[in-house]
Amino acid sequence: MSKSDFNLNHQNQSTESKIVASLERIAQAFRVLLWQESKEHSLTPIQVQVLIFLKFHSEEKRKVSYLADEFNMTKATISDTVKTLEQKQLISKGHEPHDTRSYIIHLTKKGKDIADKTSFFTKEIRSPIDKLHQDDKENLLLSLLNIIRHLNKSEVITIQRMCMSCLHYQSSDKGQKHFCKLLNQPLHTADLRIDCPEHELNA
Ligand code: SF4
Repeated sequence: MSKSDFNLNHQNQSTESKIVASLERIAQAFRVLLWQESKEHSLTPIQVQVLIFLKFHSEEKRKVSYLADEFNMTKATISDTVKTLEQKQLISKGHEPHDTRSYIIHLTKKGKDIADKTSFFTKEIRSPIDKLHQDDKENLLLSLLNIIRHLNKSEVITIQRMCMSCLHYQSSDKGQKHFCKLLNQPLHTADLRIDCPEHELNA
C-alpha cells in the first residue's frame, strides 16, 4: 500500500480505501454512542464496557487479568476501573478460597440495572443492519470475521473467542464450509460466532 487510505485523491478511486474509511467512521460512531450512554450514568466509557462485559460473561472471564487482555489495557488501569465501580456500588469482589489475591467480579443489583440499560447503546448501528438482505448480512459477517481474524493474528487485538481461532473449528472447500467439532455439526455462515462461551484457543 503506497498511498494513505485518507488521501482523498486515492481514496475516491479505491474501493478498499473507502471500506477502511467507512470502518473508521463506524468506529467513531461506537465511541460517540458509548460516550453518550456513559455520560447519562456519570460513568466513563471503559466503566460501561466493563459492566456490559461482566453481565454477559462467565466467572472465569470476570477477573482483572482477563479484562485487561479483553480491553487491551494494563492490569493497573483495569484495577482502577474496578475500584471505582466498587466505590459506586456497581460491582462486588468474590475472593476465591484457594487464592486470596485473585477475585471474581460480580455485578450488584444497581450494576446489573445499568448494564441492562447501557447494553443497548448500539441500537442506532443495529438498525440499518436489520434492514439488510439476509445474504448481504452473511457476506458482511464473513468479511468482518476475516478482518478481525487478521487483526488478531497480527496482534493488533488480543483475545478473540471467534470460530476461526477455535480449536474445535474446521473449514473445508477453501474456507467456504465450516464445521464445529465440539457441537459436531456444520456451521452455516449465520452460525459462525464472534464470542462463543465454548471457545478454546487454537494455539
Ligand atoms: S466451540 Fe464455539 S467457537 Fe469453537 S468452533 Fe464451535 S461454535 Fe465456533
